[in-house]
Amino acid sequence: MNPEHFNLSEVVPGVWAAEADLMGASVGNAAIIDAGGKTIVVDTFMTDVAAIELRRTAEALTGNRVYLAVNSHWHDDHTGGNQVFGDVPIVSTTTTMERVLENASGDIADWQSEIDESLLRLEEAVEAGDTTAARRLDGMRHYRDFADNFKLTLPNLLNDGRLVVEGERRVEIETRGKGHTVSDTFVWLPAERIIISGDLCWNGIHPRMHDGFPAAWADYTEALLALDPLHVIPGHGVPGDAGALRDLPDYFRTVETLISEVRAGTDPASIPAPEVSKDWDGLARFHDGLQSLADS
Ligand SMILES: [Zn+2]
Repeated sequence: MNPEHFNLSEVVPGVWAAEADLMGASVGNAAIIDAGGKTIVVDTFMTDVAAIELRRTAEALTGNRVYLAVNSHWHDDHTGGNQVFGDVPIVSTTTTMERVLENASGDIADWQSEIDESLLRLEEAVEAGDTTAARRLDGMRHYRDFADNFKLTLPNLLNDGRLVVEGERRVEIETRGKGHTVSDTFVWLPAERIIISGDLCWNGIHPRMHDGFPAAWADYTEALLALDPLHVIPGHGVPGDAGALRDLPDYFRTVETLISEVRAGTDPASIPAPEVSKDWDGLARFHDGLQSLADS
């Protein structure tokens, strides 16, 4: 099985990571769990076209229809494909459901013209020889098609604590409040010691912090580490082990102290990234995130 919009890898028998293409139609990672007759999909990608492929893949791999979908948090690269799961329960926290609703464009025509402007800018950049823009353009074209087909589909099974699915394996869907966003859910498979973290974990990549709470995020990732996972399926980046989480508490505690420096007038671009992140990709997200957190 070789999906077009994501990389599929089997973490343990019956649990798959669907690693997204950050610049394509999927954007944020998802996961598939075969809980023995109960097929669970965690996060639904950015667009319907990627979500359709995710659902088909999940049902082909497990031989069962999807039983439950999960939204780890409100960001559209984890909830955009919800309409493909409109016939099954979609689990999120109450706050996540409210944010998905708030974030939905009230005016589809406005949304489409915003995307058209981005397409125009990207096409100009491609003509000027920008190869990164060429990849972005491909993703944006998928997003434009998605905007034409969009059907707002809200999570409809609200879980503000821990929801347990018992099948051939135990699946715990749990929130401990805010971190990457105002409300984040993770999935824990206690027997296999697998965490599906949503965007609480970005593996080897500077995380997007604009909607985050660095101090709470540090505590949250520390709590995930305390579960002593063998495997971590992150919200972005490749699946890994506990090492994917290990440096995050320190990173977010450092970020928390840097926000006041930016508020005091230091240019975020002049601030070096925390030492633990020296090998990570996406440094611009660190500087943009600092500015955004300082402004909030
Ligand atoms: Zn996110």
